[in-house]
Amino acid sequence: MRRLKTRVLMAAAIALPLAPLLAVAAPAAAPFAFDATPGRLPKTVVPVSYSVGIVPDIDALTFSGTESVRLQFRSATDTLVLNSLNEILHDVRLDGRPVKSVTTDDSQQLTTITLAAAAPAALHTLTFAYTGKIEQQPHGLFAQSYSVAGGGSELLLSTQMEDTDARRMFPCWDEPAFRARFQLTATVPAGWTALSNMPVATRVVHGALATVTFQRTPNMPSYLIEFSAGDLAQIGAASSGVRFGIWAVRGREQEGRVALANAQQILADYNDYFGYRYPLPKLDSIAIPGSGGAMENWGAITYNENLLLLTPGSTTGDRQEVYSVQAHEMAHQWSGDLVTMGWWDDIWLNESFASWRAAKETDARNPGWKWWEREDVTKEQAMRADARVSSHAIQQHVSDELQADNAFDPEITYDKGEAVLRMFEAYLGEHTFRDGIRRYLKAHAFSNATTADLWNALSAVSHRNIGEIAGDWTTQPGFPLVTVSAGCDAAGARTIALSQRRFLLRGADPHDAKWRIPLQLRSGVGGTRRSVLFTHDGQKLAAGRCDEPLSVNADAIGFYRSSYDQATFGVNLKNFSALADADRIVLLDDQWALVESDTQPLATYLTLASAMASSLDTRAWEQIAAALAAIEYDERGTPGHQAYAEFARSIIQPVADRLGWDARPDETPDVQLLRRTLLGDLGAWGDAGVIGEARRRFDAFVTDRASLRPDDRDEILSIVMLGADAATFEQVHTMAKQADDEVELERYYSALTDVRDPQLAAEAARIAVSSELPPQAARLRFAMVMGIAAHHQQLAWSTLSDHADTLLSPFPGFAPLIIAQYVPVAFWDGVPLEQLEAWVRSHVPDEMSDNVDRGMESARFQLSEKATLVPAVDGYLRSLSSAAQATQPAQLP
Ligand SMILES: [Zn+2]
Repeated sequence: MRRLKTRVLMAAAIALPLAPLLAVAAPAAAPFAFDATPGRLPKTVVPVSYSVGIVPDIDALTFSGTESVRLQFRSATDTLVLNSLNEILHDVRLDGRPVKSVTTDDSQQLTTITLAAAAPAALHTLTFAYTGKIEQQPHGLFAQSYSVAGGGSELLLSTQMEDTDARRMFPCWDEPAFRARFQLTATVPAGWTALSNMPVATRVVHGALATVTFQRTPNMPSYLIEFSAGDLAQIGAASSGVRFGIWAVRGREQEGRVALANAQQILADYNDYFGYRYPLPKLDSIAIPGSGGAMENWGAITYNENLLLLTPGSTTGDRQEVYSVQAHEMAHQWSGDLVTMGWWDDIWLNESFASWRAAKETDARNPGWKWWEREDVTKEQAMRADARVSSHAIQQHVSDELQADNAFDPEITYDKGEAVLRMFEAYLGEHTFRDGIRRYLKAHAFSNATTADLWNALSAVSHRNIGEIAGDWTTQPGFPLVTVSAGCDAAGARTIALSQRRFLLRGADPHDAKWRIPLQLRSGVGGTRRSVLFTHDGQKLAAGRCDEPLSVNADAIGFYRSSYDQATFGVNLKNFSALADADRIVLLDDQWALVESDTQPLATYLTLASAMASSLDTRAWEQIAAALAAIEYDERGTPGHQAYAEFARSIIQPVADRLGWDARPDETPDVQLLRRTLLGDLGAWGDAGVIGEARRRFDAFVTDRASLRPDDRDEILSIVMLGADAATFEQVHTMAKQADDEVELERYYSALTDVRDPQLAAEAARIAVSSELPPQAARLRFAMVMGIAAHHQQLAWSTLSDHADTLLSPFPGFAPLIIAQYVPVAFWDGVPLEQLEAWVRSHVPDEMSDNVDRGMESARFQLSEKATLVPAVDGYLRSLSSAAQATQPAQLP
């Protein structure tokens, strides 16, 4: 599943982190065994197959249903316990005979059925009728309204079941180990299209309605059920023995052309890689307006419209996001759907694996995108989150599925896990790792698995004990800082001694954690990468020659930081421009983190940044621009701000000059991204020439929308809107109101929040909570308020606290995590921390105390970093200026 667009979260995560409690690590995992799997439902009665029929009453937002479940009683019992929510069951029978009693407890989301007498261990059939509720947010069966071109609005039905919401559509054994086969029937308006996991088996029209029955699914968990119905249309194709459909609200299906080609390419590649053919007859991809994320329902993946459809206004970044999200959801068709984690403790198996496999696929098929450099952005976000004392392990104990939502911590569950898998792939070798994955999938197909099952498969193919090494990374929080001390012999040969400790931005590790670390070592420019397992402090390794640059995290593959002795750092600095891109990137990432953690002086980082000159290494520049921007934020309102802004501009000016304003036909997307990033920062840091040129281009755009390429629009808008007056604001506001797809809606409404002018910011805040936004853009409200927070903390805070329900209701399930972990990071600078923490705690359930600790640790870190960075940078600039004066020719008196 992909819950939130990264952008929405990142808008929240303006800067970063600090705090206390350790999450309880999951117990050392054992191989999957149904009886040992956690959960609240008794395992005496197990569903084998369901037949579910629903008849929605869309006007009333209710539905009536009938259900028949074939059950295996594993021992004699008179009690059945299953999940239900907001449903009323009646006419409940077992094998045709009425049961003794039915008790439903919505607070526990359970229904208990008591039989007149115990039924023997055997197959039995449970039947009942029931009524339920159509939701208005994406959990369970929900109605989504959307505005249509030419005015008016329409409505469609769709579902979102993960983690625990299938029970809202039909009473069921709603835990992932209770796999069964499902046959769904639905009665909908005859003009509608109805979709589900499997193809339509029969469709009978009766008057204004049609009753559609889908083929029975393979054995699968309930959270993967999908049902959508509405005025939908498709484009389709067949390849690899599979029928592909890209579905959208009628009139928009052609915008799925790229997605249709992507899906066929990705599926063919995955069939090959996994060594297991996609087992369903069809794979539909369904664009749902306003749903926000994407969900890997087997055979019927749902996406928010702008994660699947591409319009003339879409950017290269949108294309990349569509590809990588498709690659993620399609990887789940194997990891998640074919083989499912036994319990929510191991949700990382689904998510990290899908993220890692998607990155690998996106990189392989789009070499010009330099995709692993894009992924370095998310790896850094994960390391920042994981550098908190209060961080948690990848595998975390989930005692009750109602708390499973909290296990979807994007930085750890998705991004750290992805990085750890990549690190182990590099350690074992690509082919051995793939063979282990194949072995794992084959052994657990149509069943469930645990983390131990994955490690055992990898150990079997590699003849190494992977579980032991990998457990260091998945069962304890945090990651190490590797310290490197080099010694040279008389001939200049280098030997390095390694040591490690947990890396934290602030505070001390209460557990003195250690890791077995798969290092990737490279000595010398253009040297080959060597894999070494670092197992104990003081370990010594031969590492090339002392006059050669050295990386102990070659190609930025590892999830750890490195610190070099002064002499080795000096050699790396001297060779900085000749390093492999990824080695340069990881050096910048690490050095900045060492500065932030107060273990290295700021000058060491700024010296590296200054050594970039006019090199075109996009991710390295992006790293530098982000660090410079973080300092710029802290400098705002201080006497040193102007001098600092000039300095920051001087670092990026040479490469900006080299790139100019206009894309050249032979440029790769990353170079174009670099240009936009640098121009945006120059504009934000007050470069009058850049601001003037952006204004000129904006004015041309107002009269001729074709004058700006979609890729360039966001950057021009952001520069112009920073200094916007009321007339400019209104011009962009009009563009927002005229936008008719989600890409454009997001672009123009987000741009309104960039303004520095307080009155215009207040107007943007008013718009964010107004009824002006169309229904499919409800999720944009929260992103807008986070955008306002970048320049107007109090305004954004009062808007959030006054309208929290409106802003967060489009994120059911995920809202508490947003409040606990992201709101403190967004408001550390504008709201007293005690007040902030009290508000956050009062808006999340008590059991999310650890999450609040993480958010508040980040907020406290930001505050303390500001106190350190501002004098450090002012001092650095003074030293530069006195050094410059010292080199002036001496004046005679
Ligand atoms: Zn996912």
